[in-house]
Amino acid sequence: MNTKEKFEKYIMGTYSRQNAVLERGSKEKIYDEAGKQYIDFGSGIGTNSLGICDDRWVSAVCEQAHRIQHTSNIYYSAPQADVAEKLCERTGYSKVFFGNSGAEANEAAIKLARKYSFDKYGKGRHNIITLVNSFHGRTITTLSATGQDVFHNYFFPFTEGFIYVEANNIEDLKAKLDDTVCAVMFEYIQGEGGVLPLERDFVDAIFSLCAEKDVLTIADEVQTGVGRTGKFLAGENFGKRTNITTLAKGIAGGLPMGICLADEKCCDVLSASTHGSTFGGNPVCSAGANAVLDRITPEFLEEVSRKGVYLKGKLLEISEIERIDGMGLMLGARLKTKKAAEVAKKAVENGLLVLTAKDKLRFLPPLTISFAEIDKGTEILKGLLEE
Ligand SMILES: *Cc1c(COP(=O)(O)O)cnc(C)c1O
Repeated sequence: MNTKEKFEKYIMGTYSRQNAVLERGSKEKIYDEAGKQYIDFGSGIGTNSLGICDDRWVSAVCEQAHRIQHTSNIYYSAPQADVAEKLCERTGYSKVFFGNSGAEANEAAIKLARKYSFDKYGKGRHNIITLVNSFHGRTITTLSATGQDVFHNYFFPFTEGFIYVEANNIEDLKAKLDDTVCAVMFEYIQGEGGVLPLERDFVDAIFSLCAEKDVLTIADEVQTGVGRTGKFLAGENFGKRTNITTLAKGIAGGLPMGICLADEKCCDVLSASTHGSTFGGNPVCSAGANAVLDRITPEFLEEVSRKGVYLKGKLLEISEIERIDGMGLMLGARLKTKKAAEVAKKAVENGLLVLTAKDKLRFLPPLTISFAEIDKGTEILKGLLEE
């Protein structure tokens, strides 16, 4: 049996996969089992932030695997401490919780917000406002948090206590932000929802209304965080810092890690045995995260912004592309006539890995992508879109 046949036979069909068996790579090039080359405009959905097999990242991860691969969180270990220190110093947050995925990071944020409110105000203030068209994960609770009806099927009963507000509708937010609410949770740029940045006024309204009522703000930066938008956190583009921020996808350069950052107001809410994770902050993943964090300097972030502007310009030269949304190296392209899913499939045939989000093409290349590779990738895309 070949790889694809084994997948069909032995792996649950939860994904409709692109026709490529990816085997190895280097920087922003990936090769399949047959040796065919692909340019990577997706970075494994925003995870391989330093591209494939970055030298320093590989050394850090391998050295750690040779030293000790896991310790358990009932002991201390240096790589995890270093990640936490770097994150807090970089972002101004006070403390960190370690999980293994975006959904887990968001679960931690949700538990934290509810306990913050319970500790201070008692029962009845457990509701969390999220936005229509958001995406927060695949666990029962994060599906509940996700403001899209298509996700609220089959798996009943879902977790109670989520209220959905229309993105950028300040009146809707005002109307629903009542005394039962403990937190407002949002993505600065809705990723899976179609690469849609929030409007500044709406973000300002979230912060001012929440501050009035001691309601916590939670930014789901699982996709937008760790340099993706040209700032370390996307919130910096809005001049804002929420009480809680979650990170995952790009943080460890392609290894599993989910982070919940909390500010001085709520960093001590999750106390001993109220939350935990066996693998959270695993030393090998932490070594990967340290390698990523060491690379993301102010100069590196400026380069991400420059590449973002360059990629956007190149994409706008393609006549089939109607508009581009997003920031930095997180971009979405609305097409005039073609279907994004069909284009993404054809792109794979033509040696380009590109993502979709709703009816858009989505671009999340490695943050280290070269200008030359941007040229090559957009050239392939242009050929497909203008044929
Ligand atoms: C991908 C994503 C998640 C879920 O992350 P997992 O690691 O798949 O659990 C949550 N929120 C946002 C904004 C995401 O993009």
